[in-house]
Formats: sequence, structure tokens, C-alpha cells
Amino acid sequence: MNADRAAWEQRSVARVVSPVQPRKLASVPFVELADGRLQGVVSSGSDIARVYVSSITAGTHAFNCSTNNNRPCGGLRGSPCKHLHDLAGAAVLQYGLDQVARYLHVEVGDGTDLMSCLNGRHEPTPGAMVFSRFLRHLAYLELPDTTEPIAEMHWFPAMGAIR
Ligand SMILES: [Zn+2]
Repeated sequence: MNADRAAWEQRSVARVVSPVQPRKLASVPFVELADGRLQGVVSSGSDIARVYVSSITAGTHAFNCSTNNNRPCGGLRGSPCKHLHDLAGAAVLQYGLDQVARYLHVEVGDGTDLMSCLNGRHEPTPGAMVFSRFLRHLAYLELPDTTEPIAEMHWFPAMGAIR
């Protein structure tokens, strides 16, 4: 039983870091419904070394996106950037549309996209807490003992900056 579980976890970990199809987890390594927000960590589409902290507040649907060093996302121009769309997509996969919609207090009609039903505006939100929870989440991952570089650790090359 234990051996089976360990094997399963190793396979699971291997799939996450596999360069063949890391699509979903690679683009949104962390998503949660917490603090009255849908929030998470989204990787930059173009720069593997950069991550964004994106969030949508329940009720007001105020949204924000910034780098893990708290620089505003360049994609935010009065409307949600690509990272927020990625975050919403990942949340729907993770929790299901009903739960996400209920949490955010939004009515999503049949065949309608979650993001198109939100009408909040940009509102700066501190992202440091989300990012540090992401780091803790990574620390909880049960990784097999290894002396090889761990791909998950590559998500926060700038970790020193948030200490
Ligand atoms: Zn963004």
C-alpha cells in the first residue's frame, strides 16, 4: 500500500515536471479560493523565470495582477490580463465552475465564460501573502529524496527578494 502510494506520487511528480505536457500546471502552478479571493500564481507566458500573483475579489470582482516582486503586470490595461484568464481557467478545472462562481458571487449563464461575467475593476492587492503561501505549498509537496535539481524550485528564482 505504502509502496503503491509512493510510486503514484513519484509518477504524479514526474508528470508535473515533465517537459512533454506541463501545460496546465506549468501555466498556473498554484490556485486557491481564500481570503475572499480567487487567487494564485501564474507563470509568464514568455519568461520561465517570471511569475505573477493574480487575484479576483469575491463580490466586487476587483482584480489585480503583479509580479512576485510587486511590480504591476504590464498586461493590465483596464481589463483583466491573460494571467487572470489563465487563473480563472485553472480554478474552474480545479474546483469546478459552480464552486468558483458561487465563491466569487457571480452568475454564469449556460455557455458563458466566467471571466466575461465579471465586471470589476483593477484594484491593487498585496500579492506577497499569496506568493508565500505558494512557497509553503511547494514545501509540502512530497518529493522523493534526490540530489538532482528539483524543477518546482525553478518557480521562484527571485525568492531572496521577498524575504
Ligand atoms: Zn497579468
